[in-house]
Amino acid sequence: LHTEKGSLSAADKEFENNIRPTEIEDFAGQGQIIENLKIFIKAAKLRGEALDHVLFHGPPGLGKTTLSRIVANEMGVNIKETSGPVIEKPGDLAGLLTNLEPHDVLFIDEIHRLSTVVEEYLYAAMEDYRLDIMIDSGPNARSIQINLNPFTLVGATTRSGLLTAPLLSRFAIKSRLEYYNAEVLQKIINRAAGILNTKITSDAANEIARRSRGTPRIGNGLLRRVRDFAQVLSNGIIDLAITQHALRALNVDEYGLDEMDNRILLTIIDKFKGGPVGITTIATAVGEETGTLEEVYEPFLIQEGFIKRTPRGREVTPKAYEHLGRKHGGSGEH
Ligand code: ADP
Repeated sequence: LHTEKGSLSAADKEFENNIRPTEIEDFAGQGQIIENLKIFIKAAKLRGEALDHVLFHGPPGLGKTTLSRIVANEMGVNIKETSGPVIEKPGDLAGLLTNLEPHDVLFIDEIHRLSTVVEEYLYAAMEDYRLDIMIDSGPNARSIQINLNPFTLVGATTRSGLLTAPLLSRFAIKSRLEYYNAEVLQKIINRAAGILNTKITSDAANEIARRSRGTPRIGNGLLRRVRDFAQVLSNGIIDLAITQHALRALNVDEYGLDEMDNRILLTIIDKFKGGPVGITTIATAVGEETGTLEEVYEPFLIQEGFIKRTPRGREVTPKAYEHLGRKHGGSGEH
């Protein structure tokens, strides 16, 4: 199962767009973020201004893109979507910005992957709705100023730790999306099933929710696969029995942990006697970046009680030993 949008197939993306809520009322969970956004949007509209720049950060699949489109929809403006690595040159950025109508939203996904040069042009654009473009070079070099329509930059990132201080400070609204609990996920799965015209029992929806790693994208993806099993092996209705059968066949972890989650836990248990061990050491052992471990994997493992942060490093909990069927205190020598 993919969690990163970059690895989604065209069919996956089409499915996501089909079930993506477009109204703020259909966006489940993230209560405080939604309440605040409603106020900021209303205030901006009352003043007849563009909404302040917004940064959505948090792990993949939690609704950053969805919320960005909802923001534009609620503001009653257009949204232009792009992503950090796609804007290669300042000219690309200028092209995007000069085409915005007043108060439009420019959505930049993976904003942590903007090049330094492009990012520097963005500062004045965000602050003063202005672009200073250098034309020509050598003795003829001069800069021209382009005034832009007031716009809202909505940035999304899974790695806010990689954003520079000057960029961060230009977002007046910063929201960190959190993992969803099973109850909210169940609502999201029920809604998606409705759009797919599929009947699902509430215990089945709950089972999928519990095993979705707190992530709507994963929950909706599992729903789609379970629906295949229900259609082929049964009468098309998704009940608990067919759900459990499908999730077993798909090798979905009891707690919804993915391969990397389990690799992290096993590494700490087998190579470091359960910890405490430093995050950088774990990162090297599993072949992942320290920042990605810290911002994408670890928060879920800590929230679900598989890992503890201690002053001397990370330690797995008895729950992790139990889940992986390892003996507590075992270091691989037994
Ligand atoms: P991100 O941009 O954070 O990676 P997306 O906005 O692309 O995540 O969301 C992934 C999928 O999950 C979309 O299909 C969307 O419909 C669904 N989704 C995410 N958050 C919610 C939510 N709060 N309510 C309903 N569906 C959601």
